[in-house]
Amino acid sequence: MELTDLITRARRSEARALGRLISLVENESPQSREIDAELAPHTGSAHIVGLTGPPGVGKSTSVTALVSELRRRGRTVAVLAIDPSSPYTGGALLGDRVRMQSHSTDPGVYIRSMASRGSLGGLSATATASLRVLDGIGFDVILVETVGVGQSEVDISAVADTTIVLLAPGMGDEVQASKAGVLEVGDIFIVNKADQGGAESTRRQLRFMIGGNDHDASTWLPPVTLAVALSSKGFGDIVDAIDSHRIHLTASGELERRRTRRARREIEELTMQLIRARLHAGPHLAKLDALASDVVSGSTDPYSAAVELAGQ
Ligand code: GDP
Repeated sequence: MELTDLITRARRSEARALGRLISLVENESPQSREIDAELAPHTGSAHIVGLTGPPGVGKSTSVTALVSELRRRGRTVAVLAIDPSSPYTGGALLGDRVRMQSHSTDPGVYIRSMASRGSLGGLSATATASLRVLDGIGFDVILVETVGVGQSEVDISAVADTTIVLLAPGMGDEVQASKAGVLEVGDIFIVNKADQGGAESTRRQLRFMIGGNDHDASTWLPPVTLAVALSSKGFGDIVDAIDSHRIHLTASGELERRRTRRARREIEELTMQLIRARLHAGPHLAKLDALASDVVSGSTDPYSAAVELAGQ
């Protein structure tokens, strides 16, 4: 099928066409650059919302509740569930299909699970490429969630416009103990499982830790919301908070800054890939092998060898 045809179909909410597009990009197929170029002028409208938090806190349940609330407001939603521990990529995992059953026939909702063959320091390049496709196809909101073990708050916040940190009652002390990361990356905090005791005191504790003494109208003070994801309680307020954050990001110029940082990182990563590929091809490879032998024999050192190779 022609690429433009595939893109047109994906825009018409044909899930299979969209699935094929993302697979082409994920597999770094020869067409992926064409897809990227074709979609580039259409990117930038989606609001990318990341959800993070310890396993079992209710992220998956919250994603379902969020999707329902967003659909109630007429927004289209894509969900990208990233499993850093899974070798499996493509389509939705069985568990996702089950939990998202209520949305499975809704053309305004698209769910995708992917493994994160992440390189150092971030979600995989394929994850960011898939995000770009979903954005370019025209989804209003893209929810990014990490599943399984090895998740990192910082990873999610690097790709999201708005980062939601989920906690459960009683987790305040843990957050305080492991201060690094969580408090800094959260734009919105949710104390989920508020049907269980202790939610209000955890909320107060978080509120205190986040501070806000030096808060003025131009800075964003992350709200801390109580929620019961199982019954969707609190999710109207949460979508309101997401919308307010978007308005703040745009008005303050922070959206532009975050996206520029993200684009910079992507370019950097791709450039490193290109350099590596060039190094492993043709004359450079022979030179690399020769220099490796020289290092072993002691006639040069690795640093001098690298300088020589880079200077070519
Ligand atoms: P995840 O690992 O963070 O994705 O968490 P899940 O969404 O899979 O939820 C973990 C467990 O907590 C499941 O058994 C959910 O049914 C339960 N759960 C999720 N939200 C709530 C809630 O608001 N209240 C209560 N009591 N249980 C919840």
